[in-house]
Amino acid sequence: MCAIESNLSEARRGDPAGGTEAPKRHFELALAELADALVAGKTEPICAAYLTLRRLEHGIEPGALLGRIERALGDQAPAAILSAFSRRHCFMCDRGTNPCHTCEGTGLVDRFRCPNCEGLGVEACMFCLSSGWSPLEDMPEELRPAVRRLRTAQLRKELDRLAALPMDRALASARKAGPEKRRDLATWLLRLLGRVNVLGNRQAERGPLPGAEEATRRANQLLGALRESVPTQE
Ligand SMILES: [Zn+2]
Ligand SMILES: [Zn+2]
Repeated sequence: MCAIESNLSEARRGDPAGGTEAPKRHFELALAELADALVAGKTEPICAAYLTLRRLEHGIEPGALLGRIERALGDQAPAAILSAFSRRHCFMCDRGTNPCHTCEGTGLVDRFRCPNCEGLGVEACMFCLSSGWSPLEDMPEELRPAVRRLRTAQLRKELDRLAALPMDRALASARKAGPEKRRDLATWLLRLLGRVNVLGNRQAERGPLPGAEEATRRANQLLGALRESVPTQE
């Protein structure tokens, strides 16, 4: 093997001691990209830059990369990265649902309730189970426990919001909702149910999510009222 070939293969392998310049330079570039993304506060570029760094440092122990980033970019960086991953969206839907493909979001087929979405105008995303979140299983392992905690905190706020709704008024307004409001409210409720579902499963070993049962009951009641607001053929 000639010297160039040997250098190339060394560069491809990467040198944990930093003996080769190319991987080090790539790392510095990716780090600079992460720094820019953190300043801009943009979720997707932050996640992408972290994943690039992780690919470049594939030999590193899980968790050690965050420490290295913290030393280079300051002690706010790890929390900002975890927060970005916790807010990362599912790429297959919009906030947990997609417009119904049968009625194109109107909730109606020939002036009557669409049989596919039951009038809601939206259907749950099967990829993220209508949580609207990028699946935890697709995330770097070292981030998952913290992302799960952050997502649980986000969900708690939404559960509180639903618990604070005066149900009589909310049901009455759901029964009168027009197509746009119906889609919006249905999306929020389906997403909330999806989030309870994806986090609740994991939460089982630490006890149930407080308020989740009552919230599920309320969400289903409101979804029922939304469905009833659309006329059926009979
Ligand atoms: Zn439909
Ligand atoms: Zn989705």
